[in-house]
Order: sequence, then C-alpha cells, then structure tokens
Amino acid sequence: MIILVLNSGSSSIKYKLFDIKEGAEKLLDKGLVERIGEKIPSHRDAIKIILDKAGSGIGAVGHRVVHGGDRFSKSVLIDNKVIKAIEDFTELAPLHNPPSLLVINESRKILADIQHVAVFDTAFYCGMPDYAYFYGIPYKFYEKYKIRKYGFHGTSHRYVSEQAAGVLKRPLAELKLITCHLGNGCSITAVKNGKAIDTSMGFTPLEGVMMGTRSGDIDPAIIPYVMEKEKMNAAEVIEMLNKESGLLGVSGLTNDMRELLKEKAKNKRAKLALDIFVYRIKKYIGSYTAVMSGCDAVVFTGGIGENNPGIIEEICKGVIPEGAKTLMIPTDEELMIARDTYRIATTLH
Ligand code: ADP
Repeated sequence: MIILVLNSGSSSIKYKLFDIKEGAEKLLDKGLVERIGEKIPSHRDAIKIILDKAGSGIGAVGHRVVHGGDRFSKSVLIDNKVIKAIEDFTELAPLHNPPSLLVINESRKILADIQHVAVFDTAFYCGMPDYAYFYGIPYKFYEKYKIRKYGFHGTSHRYVSEQAAGVLKRPLAELKLITCHLGNGCSITAVKNGKAIDTSMGFTPLEGVMMGTRSGDIDPAIIPYVMEKEKMNAAEVIEMLNKESGLLGVSGLTNDMRELLKEKAKNKRAKLALDIFVYRIKKYIGSYTAVMSGCDAVVFTGGIGENNPGIIEEICKGVIPEGAKTLMIPTDEELMIARDTYRIATTLH
C-alpha cells in the first residue's frame, strides 16, 4: 500500500511517501514544501504540490499531530470526532495543532475516498503512572486546566525503542531502555517493557534537559523575578526561555552543537554550555536508571545523538550501569507514522 506521511508546520510541510507491505518497507520519495504563506499561498496549495509529486495510487495518509492530550493513547483513524478532539487540544499546542488541523481538513477534502490516520507525539506517554505525570501543585489545576506532564517526541522514542529491541535481539516487552532524542529539541524517556513510564518534557516541550534554545528545567520563581527586574511580560519571558536560552543563551554564540564543539577549546562560555548540556542529560539517565531499577541500553538519536560519538561518550561516562549497551540509532518518525497508518488502514479494510 502506498502511504503518504505529512508532517505539517505553520509555514512548511514535510512529506515522505512509502510503499508498505507486510514485512517490506520502501521509501519512494521525500521532500519539504516551505514558505507557505509567502511563495506558496496556502497549505492547500502545498498539499496539491505534494500530491502532484506523489502521483496517483495513494492508499492512505498518515498525519503527525503534536498534541493529543490525554485522549489518544494510540494512533487513530480520523473522523469528525477526532478532529473535534484535536481542536480541543489546540489551546495546549497553539503553534503545532492548528497547521496539522488545516492540513488534515484540506487533504481529507482532496483525498476524500481514502483513510486518514492521526499519529500523536503525546500518545506514547498516555500510559505513564499518575505519580510521574502529576505536578506538585494544587490538584484543581489538573481538574480545571488539564495541567500535567504530557511528553513530546513520542513517535521518535517509540521508533528507536523498537529498533533497539531489534539490535539487541530481545523482545521490547522485557527491556529497560532510556531513549535520548537529542536534536534542537531534546528529550529523554524511560521505556520499561515497551511502555514509556517517564519523560523529561512536560506540560510543554520546555521542561527537561537543556536544549538548543530552550532552557529545560529551571526554578519557576525565576520567571516573576525576571519579569519584575526586566519589565517583561509573561509572553516575553516564555519566548526568552524557548528561543534565547539553552546552548544559545549560555554560550552567547549559537545553538548549533557542531559550532560549539569547534569553539569549545578557546571559548569558556561555549565549554560551559556543553558542560551543562552533558551534565543534565547524565542526571536524567541516572534517575531513570533508578526508577526502572536498572537499564539494558541507552539509545541516542536526533541530529546530535545520531552523529556525535564523542559527546555521547562523555554523557555516558560513569553513569551507564555495568553491562548496559549504548546505541546510536537514526530516528524515522515518518516511517513509524507510515507503519501505524498501514496497520490501521489495512485492519479496517
Ligand atoms: P531538529 O530537532 O530541529 O530536528 P536535528 O535533529 O536535525 O534538529 O538536530 C540538530 C542538532 O544536531 C544541531 O545542534 C546540530 O549541530 C546537531 N548535529 C548535526 N550533525 C552533527 C554532528 N555531526 N555532530 C554534532 N552535532 C551534530
């Protein structure tokens, strides 16, 4: 079955086209349509460009959706109820869910006769224990506003967990894995017996380890303090924590790991940024080893995790339990989406 996977942002759509059969997967094409709203007038136009390239014969479409809240623990066939639920979670993902909704609605109109499947970044975390996803704040904030840890990058963590089980030649259901997605955004997940039991990102992708431009964990009291001192409003502080912090904020140079590694020897702040980055990941690996009472393998993926054995060696030094393996596995969120889409579309036929 030919599966088209769409990963939509506010001004771009990434796509991959796969031919999926039982036991055989082939990537046929991939690409990126950028500058929607400028060179390309609308998301609908972008979809048409992709469909022209993809040709006829598409059997199903898989859509990446960032936020499925606590509602979707699995990928689902899209119908009007699912669309309504994704709309309901827009408030929790104001930058990410709207372009996905737009693309889902438009592509369902253009490709009305085939199945469309939604694959959620949050779904992998729906089974986390309550004590892992609750924050220590008054319970009413959970009841009134659904404030809890949701976790992100779930499709990537699920994909590399499955790949790791293959590499280790052991069933995923009996493995304790720590998966580290280290790209511009970074997140760490504890995967016990195939299920995510904790993850570093939280209510939003801002929590957790330090990232390219995001601060990761900070004392929340810093926020009102900075607001008062710098005469900033809440939106400005959040923007600062999302876009001007992390490796970029500490080094004052760049959020690009490759550049920082070049600067490390001669620039103190580049070295400090790298030291914080490594130290914080170590702390998460240590704590997830503790909550799982052990760890069989630590898996690295994402631009940094797939390409830089040096930094991985530093992260792992002294923190990986004896006997545990270190694996570098390229992620492929689109392939995971295509697999889910194939499974759902063929089960329903
Ligand atoms: P995104 O999260 O935007 O998808 P990527 O997964 O592509 O980002 O990761 C981007 C990061 O990966 C950048 O910090 C980049 O410097 C880093 N990176 C890419 N290649 C290498 C490499 N060979 N060594 C170290 N870092 C790398």
